[in-house]
Amino acid sequence: MKLQSIKGMNDIVPPNSRAWQRAEELFRVILDSYGYREIRLPLMENTAVFERSIGDVTDIVQKEMYTFEDRNGDSLTLRPEGTAGCVRAVLQNGLLHQQFRKLWYIGPMFRHERPQKGRYRQFHQIGVEVFDIPGPDIDAELIMMTARMWAALGLSDLRLELNTLGTIEARTKYREVLFAYFSANRDQLDPDSLARLERNPMRILDSKNPALDELIGGAPPLERYLDTSSRTHFDGLCEVLTKTGVEFQVNPRLVRGLDYYSQTVFEWTTERLGAQGTVCAGGRYDGLVELLGGKPTAAIGFAMGLERLIELAWQQLNDDDDTDADIYIISTHPDYAAEILLLAEAVRGVKGNWRVLCHCGGGSMKSQMKKADRSGAQLALIIGEQEHLDGSVTIKPLRGQRDQMTVARDTGIATMSELLTTIA
Ligand code: ATP
Ligand code: MG
Repeated sequence: MKLQSIKGMNDIVPPNSRAWQRAEELFRVILDSYGYREIRLPLMENTAVFERSIGDVTDIVQKEMYTFEDRNGDSLTLRPEGTAGCVRAVLQNGLLHQQFRKLWYIGPMFRHERPQKGRYRQFHQIGVEVFDIPGPDIDAELIMMTARMWAALGLSDLRLELNTLGTIEARTKYREVLFAYFSANRDQLDPDSLARLERNPMRILDSKNPALDELIGGAPPLERYLDTSSRTHFDGLCEVLTKTGVEFQVNPRLVRGLDYYSQTVFEWTTERLGAQGTVCAGGRYDGLVELLGGKPTAAIGFAMGLERLIELAWQQLNDDDDTDADIYIISTHPDYAAEILLLAEAVRGVKGNWRVLCHCGGGSMKSQMKKADRSGAQLALIIGEQEHLDGSVTIKPLRGQRDQMTVARDTGIATMSELLTTIA
C-alpha cells in the first residue's frame, strides 16, 4: 500500500517552499516594523478553549474541529484558529502586565472542511492580536498594516469591506429583531439558516446562498440598533481610513463567522480566487478576554490565509531565478574531500549569506562542472592535483566574461569576494 498524506493536508515541497519562505520573511519584516512581537503557541488546546471562545453554534465548533480524547480521557482539539489560544496564553503568561500588547503568530490551523482550491484541512495563517487599546486608531493602524503587506506582495486588487457589529448589548437587541424577522419568513430559509435561526440569527446574514439574497436584503439593518458609542467608534475608523487614503466599502451584511466579534469587523477579498476569495479577516473582540477569565480588556485582531495569499502573489514570490548556490566547489580526486570541505567552511566564514555548495558524491570533472552550472552558482572553485600540491585554488567564473585564475587559497578568498560583488 502506498502511504498518502491525509486528504486536505498538503506537503509544501521545493521549489514551492521558497515562495513560502519569501512570503513569511516579508510579513515578518513588516510586523517588526510596526512593533509586533511573535508568540508561539501549541497546536493543540483543551477543547474548552475553543468551545468557550469561538461559540458553540459556529460552523467551526459544530462541524469543523479535530477533537479527540487523549490517553487520559481529556478532550483535546487541534487549533482551528489562533485567537482563542493566543488569549489563553496572554492570560496564562501575564503578558498584559508586562506591556506586551501587540502580538503575532504564524502556523498551521486545522478544520475538517470539504477540501477544494483555497480550502484545506490543514492550512496556514498569520494572525495578529492587539490588547488593551480600545481604538478606533489601532483598528485603522492594523488595517493600514495589512494594506502595506498587500503592496509588498505586489497585490493591488484586494478590496476592503468593513462593518460594525456594535456592542454586545446592541447585538443582543438586534438578535431579537432578526429572530422575529426570519421566524416570520421561516418557510423561505434553507436548512443551514434554519439551524442558525434559534441560536445565532445574525449568521443568516452571512449566508452565501443566492436564493436568500432578497430575504436577507429585506432584513432590518443592524445600523438602526447601534448605540452612540458604537457609531462614534465606527465613524472614527472610517474617518481615519479616508484621511489616510485606504479605500473601503461598508458592507452591512458582513458579520463574520465567529461569535466573539463586536464592533469593527473587516475582510479583504479578491475576485481572482473564485469562491474562496477572502484572504484576510478580522475584527474587534472586546468581550473575549473576560470570557476566558481575564479582566475586561479591549482587543482586536485579524488572520490571513497564507495559501490564498501566496497563490495570488505567486509570480512576485518567484521573481528571482531559482538557484541553489552562489559558489560551487569541486575537486578532481576523492582524496581532496577534506580540502574542499574546509575551503567551503572558510568561504562561508567570510560572508554568512553566501550559499556555498561543496560537491559531494564524486564523478568526472565534466559531470561536476555540469552540476556547478545547474546550481546557478556564479563561481566554481576547483581543487585539482596542482592546486592540491601548492595549496592554491582555481576560480572559474561561470557567468560573464571574466577569465579563470589560480590563486593561493588563503588570499583567494578575498579575490572571490571581489569577484562575487562585481558579478552580483
Ligand atoms: P471562509 O469564509 O473562507 O470559510 P472563515 O471566515 O472561516 O473563511 P477565518 O476563520 O476568519 O475564515 O480565517 C481567516 C482566513 O483564513 C480566511 O480569510 C482564509 O483566508 C483563511 N482560511 C480559513 N479557512 C481556511 C481553509 N480551510 N483553507 C485555507 N484557508 C482558510
Ligand atoms: Mg470557514
